[in-house]
Amino acid sequence: MRIKVLKNVLEKNDNQAQINRDLFKKNRVLAVNIMGSPGCGKTTLIEALINVLIPSYRIGVIEGDYAGTVDAERLSRYHIPVVQLDTSSCHLNAHFVGSALDHLPLRDLDFVFIENVGNLICPAEFDIGDLLKLVLYSIPEGDDKPLKYPLMFSQADAVVLTKSDLKPHFDFDVKKVRESIARLNREFEIFEFSKKSHSSIKPIANFLESRFRATVLKSYGDL
Ligand code: MG
Ligand code: ZN
Repeated sequence: MRIKVLKNVLEKNDNQAQINRDLFKKNRVLAVNIMGSPGCGKTTLIEALINVLIPSYRIGVIEGDYAGTVDAERLSRYHIPVVQLDTSSCHLNAHFVGSALDHLPLRDLDFVFIENVGNLICPAEFDIGDLLKLVLYSIPEGDDKPLKYPLMFSQADAVVLTKSDLKPHFDFDVKKVRESIARLNREFEIFEFSKKSHSSIKPIANFLESRFRATVLKSYGDL
């Protein structure tokens, strides 16, 4: 019986995810689902992206946290729309995100960054209606993670290796990581990012800009 209940839950989730996705498309917003372990640097990456993109793009953020509002407070200094979801759950689902969308001026935004709950497992199981998935993965976590969390890495449009300044201190084989992800995922980009290197955010921002142009402006331009 448990299987039936779970199937029902996922079906309802998928229906709401489609509603969210349609809303993003209609408003020409690139919704980016940002996933990764606790402490891998999701909020730090969002801050760096805001700094680079804000002169040319309008950005909103949905912060999913198991508890507390620390990350949303961190982002408040950018004076952009931020919605905090206090989930008491180990992942975001489409209904959480749908309720946040009521509080975002979607029509006036280009990007919505959705920081998922820190966890490499179930965020991959719940479609939230995003149009792009970034999976963050910090050097100290070790180079075996794609083998342990295949679903997460199989879905990534891009994998960002964070805290890359720590590479000299860890036995982390980037080539091995790239190969293990390539076995799971036909098409993905891989980036290295360190908040200590200001230039390392540029290729990631360029990637998002090109996806914004290709996905949102081209495909949905006539909606
Ligand atoms: Mg965070
Ligand atoms: Zn979960």
